[in-house]
Amino acid sequence: MPLTQSEMTQQKIDLTRIEAQVNHCFDKADAFFGVRFKRSHSSFKQRGKAAGTAHLYKNELRFNHFMFEQNPDAFLNTVVPHEVAHIIVFQIYAANAKPHGKEWQAVMKKVFGLLPDRTHTFDVPPLKKAYSYYCLCQTHEFSQRRHNRVLKGVEYRCKKCASPLTRIEKHK
Ligand SMILES: [Zn+2]
Ligand SMILES: [Zn+2]
Repeated sequence: MPLTQSEMTQQKIDLTRIEAQVNHCFDKADAFFGVRFKRSHSSFKQRGKAAGTAHLYKNELRFNHFMFEQNPDAFLNTVVPHEVAHIIVFQIYAANAKPHGKEWQAVMKKVFGLLPDRTHTFDVPPLKKAYSYYCLCQTHEFSQRRHNRVLKGVEYRCKKCASPLTRIEKHK
């Protein structure tokens, strides 16, 4: 489902907070190691069960906006350093360090002063509900939004056979 205008604006505002925290984490790592790490590009492309992912070869960080919204401060203070630590480790050791190995744990503890947690406690986005409808020729999957319109009295017809669409009752 495409984002509305206000959702897009909110994501842009939230992304600037993410970027500021990513840069802050990089600054800490620069000071700790006495080098300048290459900054990563950040986005809210992450979906599903992961709070964030570090794409090492692309030097890209993807964050889950659904989870960010639940608790922005907790997200900024845990998920962002977790992912930046992956990038730091990769820039120092290339592919020679394990994803959550001792190098990554050391960055979490010594650079960021955090427990090297591998898991997050954010709620996972719900699976999209689908509602099945049928006509004379096939079944149609309706989104929640379309199904709600039917409940309000909107009638949909199949484009192929032109017959009205009827809900398939799943129980009995
Ligand atoms: Zn990780
Ligand atoms: Zn049909």
